[in-house]
Amino acid sequence: MTKIGLEIHSQLTKLESKLFCSCKANYREFEPNTNICPICMGLPGSLPRLNQKAVEKATIIAMALNCSTPEKIAFFRKNYFYPDLPKNFQITQLNIYGDTSVGGTGILMVGEKKIRITRVQLEEDPGRLIYEGSSEKNLVTLVDYNRAGTPLVEIVTEPDFENPREVREFLNILSDLLENLGVSDPSLEGAMRADANVSIEGGNKVEIKNIGSFHDLEKAVHFEITRQQSLRSRDIPIIQETRHWDDKRKITISSRSKEEDLDYRYFLEGDIPWIKIGNQVKEKLKSEMPESISSKKQRYISKYGIPAQVADVLSSDKFYSDLFEDAHTKENAKEIANIITTDLMGLVDTREKRAASKLKPSHLQEISDSIQSGKITRNSAKNALYEIVKTGKKLSDIISELDLGNVSDESELSVIIESVIFEEPQAVEQAKSNPQTINYLVGKVMQKTKGKADPKLTLDLLKKKIR
Ligand SMILES: [Zn+2]
Repeated sequence: MTKIGLEIHSQLTKLESKLFCSCKANYREFEPNTNICPICMGLPGSLPRLNQKAVEKATIIAMALNCSTPEKIAFFRKNYFYPDLPKNFQITQLNIYGDTSVGGTGILMVGEKKIRITRVQLEEDPGRLIYEGSSEKNLVTLVDYNRAGTPLVEIVTEPDFENPREVREFLNILSDLLENLGVSDPSLEGAMRADANVSIEGGNKVEIKNIGSFHDLEKAVHFEITRQQSLRSRDIPIIQETRHWDDKRKITISSRSKEEDLDYRYFLEGDIPWIKIGNQVKEKLKSEMPESISSKKQRYISKYGIPAQVADVLSSDKFYSDLFEDAHTKENAKEIANIITTDLMGLVDTREKRAASKLKPSHLQEISDSIQSGKITRNSAKNALYEIVKTGKKLSDIISELDLGNVSDESELSVIIESVIFEEPQAVEQAKSNPQTINYLVGKVMQKTKGKADPKLTLDLLKKKIR
C-alpha cells in the first residue's frame, strides 16, 4: 500500500506586516533586500515583537481544521546554517514538550475520507535564494531577504493519502478553505509550498522537499511512486533519504543525505514570552470566523433552491461567493448564481483576469433584471458581460452601443416568424402534431435575430400562427 504524508506551508498573505517586525508581509512589490530591518535581519541587540494578528489567523486555521488548540503557545528556535536564514535560526513552534503549537491533532474530510492533521504551527519564512542557471550547475546564487520573517503556517498531515488524486483533492479543499477564511491568497506566486513523504508497500520513507506549487506537488508524488515501484520491481532497495524536486526537469533527485541530516538543537525562544490563548479569546475568534464553505453551500441550496452542483462551484470559490453575496436578492438569487457559474467563469479564470475585471455586483443585478424583464436574452447578456468585465460600463449603455436589445416589437417579430414558417414547412407540420418540436422553430427565429428575439413572445406568436 502507498502511504503519502504532506507538510504544507501557507503564507498568511492577508496580513500587513511580518511575524516579528513591522516590515511588509507583502514582500513581492519591493526591490531585492529593501523590505528588511534589524529585527528580520537578526542584527545584534534587536528583539522580536510578535504580530498578534498572525497568532489569531493561525489559530483560526487550526480551528477550521478541527484541531485541538492549547491554552498557551510557545515559540522555539530551530538552529541551522543556510544562506537564506539571516539569523542562523528560524523561530518556529514545536509540540515535543506538550502541545504548544497553535494547533494540535485535527481532521479534514476529503469527500468520505478522513485526513488526520498532525499539527498546525506558526513560523517565519526564510529569505529567497535565486539560482542563476539550472539547479545542477549553478554558477551564481543570489539572496533576497525581503521574504525573511513573513508569517507562515505549517500544516502537517499523517500519511493518510494513498494516491496522487487524493493529494490533489485535499489541496483543492485546503486552498479553498484558506482563501475562504480570508487568511491567504493561494494563487499568489510562492504563497503555498509543500514537502511530501512517500513510501510503498511498507518500505522506507522518502522525503521530497522544495515543491514550489500545488500543481507540482501532485506531479512530484506521482513521479516518486513510479520511481519506487520501478526500483522494487528490479529488487533494488529503496533508500530512506531526502530528495529534491527539480521543477524544471519534473523529477526528484537525491540530495546528499549528510547535508540534510541535521540536529536542529531546538530550544525555547527566550525573547518571546508564552502566549495565553484563553477560552474567551477562542470564543471571540470562533464568532468572527467566516461562514464555512459547506454551510454556504447548504444555505444556497435550501434558501434559494440553487442546484447542488451550481452551489458547489459558487461556495467553494471566494471570488464568486463574495460577488454572489453582494449582488443577490431572494428573487434573483438563482439567476445571478447562473450568470456567475456559466457566463462569468470563463472570463475571470485566472488571478490576473480577476484583478483586471471591472465587474461590480451592481452589474450582475442589472443583467439579471434585464433578463427577467425581457429586455435582453441570456445570449445577449453573455455578450454584455464580456464588455462589462473589460470596460466596467453600465449595462444600459452597452445594450445601446452594441445593439443588444431584444426584438420584442410584435410586428417586427411577426415578419421574421412568417418567413421562418414559410422556409420550414416540414417542421411546422411536425410542430402541429408534436408541440414539443416547436423549439426547433424558436431556434430558427433566434438565428435570424442573432439571439435577440424575446423568447417568450417568440413562442407565443409561433404557437398562435401555426395553430
Ligand atoms: Zn523587518
